[in-house]
Amino acid sequence: MTRTQQRTRLEAVRDQVRAGGRRWTIAKGAVVEALIGTEGHLSAQQVHDRVIERFPQIDRSTVHRVLLTLADEHVVHVLGRQGEARYGMADRPHHHAVCARCGQEAEIPASVISPALAAAATATGFSFEDGGITLTGLCGGCGATS
Ligand SMILES: [Zn+2]
Ligand SMILES: [Zn+2]
Repeated sequence: MTRTQQRTRLEAVRDQVRAGGRRWTIAKGAVVEALIGTEGHLSAQQVHDRVIERFPQIDRSTVHRVLLTLADEHVVHVLGRQGEARYGMADRPHHHAVCARCGQEAEIPASVISPALAAAATATGFSFEDGGITLTGLCGGCGATS
């Protein structure tokens, strides 16, 4: 994703938050920018490490609070793994693949799994949320060395 695409995505998220009647702050922008820039999932500590590169005045508790607010606003989603919460962008629906050996994570676009989810919903009468599935397996690196 190019710098321009990241900027466009950030602005779309900002507009979405404002359209929801919520405030958009410098800290929110910094946190969202950090998450968009990594294209993955980060712990609060990792987000803070990136945020302070450009905004050294933003402390860790602020980052933590902003992450919770953004989760509440459905801008980010929380992925729990081994007790440590990790955060990812929720503006593009996706599911997750996690390596059972090294813990590496990948995003699976929701469109890949949607047909199976629709079939499962029909079969069970359940409704499922986008981003709700975590598939566990071995990543390319771990699978190749075993
Ligand atoms: Zn995710
Ligand atoms: Zn692995």
